[in-house]
Amino acid sequence: MRIEFDTAILRRSIRDVPDFPTPGVIFKDITPLLADPAAFSSAVDAIVVSWGRGHIDKVVGIEARGFIVAAPVAYHFGAGFVPLRKAGKLPWETMSESYALEYGQETLEIHADAFAPGDRVLIVDDVLATGGTAKAACNLVEQAGATVVGLAFVIELSFLEGARRLDGYDYVSLLEY
Ligand code: AMP
Repeated sequence: MRIEFDTAILRRSIRDVPDFPTPGVIFKDITPLLADPAAFSSAVDAIVVSWGRGHIDKVVGIEARGFIVAAPVAYHFGAGFVPLRKAGKLPWETMSESYALEYGQETLEIHADAFAPGDRVLIVDDVLATGGTAKAACNLVEQAGATVVGLAFVIELSFLEGARRLDGYDYVSLLEY
């Protein structure tokens, strides 16, 4: 799903950092966007408008930059916020999902009691790259008894074809590279 809005204000507030955290990666740094009141509110508003109020019970944010965008989206929806964290960070009983990164493995966790049965969930993160993180998030939300209504990203690195991992799910991305 692609929505129509003025992307220029967002695009000029993304900083490309070459070779971070490893050689060959161009890191999309959203801290200038977060620090710019107009850009930050535009990004949050665009996600809120693209899904509309009344459809979402919980917004899931993926650690760590996903939290920053997901929390104000949840507030606007009048929805709850649920953190999806790296292994070992959540204090209560968890469900976990491991997935392959380009080098090595990552494990994400969610509290087992995060949702009421059938909760309708929007998953939010800063960047969709290969899609492994987003797909693991979908699996966890479903394992925990909720329904994934869709996903939202500030940035999609389309050359990495993460969308293929999200076959069958609706998603929005505000900026495509
Ligand atoms: P992936 O699982 O490959 O889709 O990677 C997505 C996760 O890694 C997101 O949580 C992003 O925050 C982070 N990420 C991956 N690639 C980049 C990048 N080039 N710039 C910034 N963050 C990235």
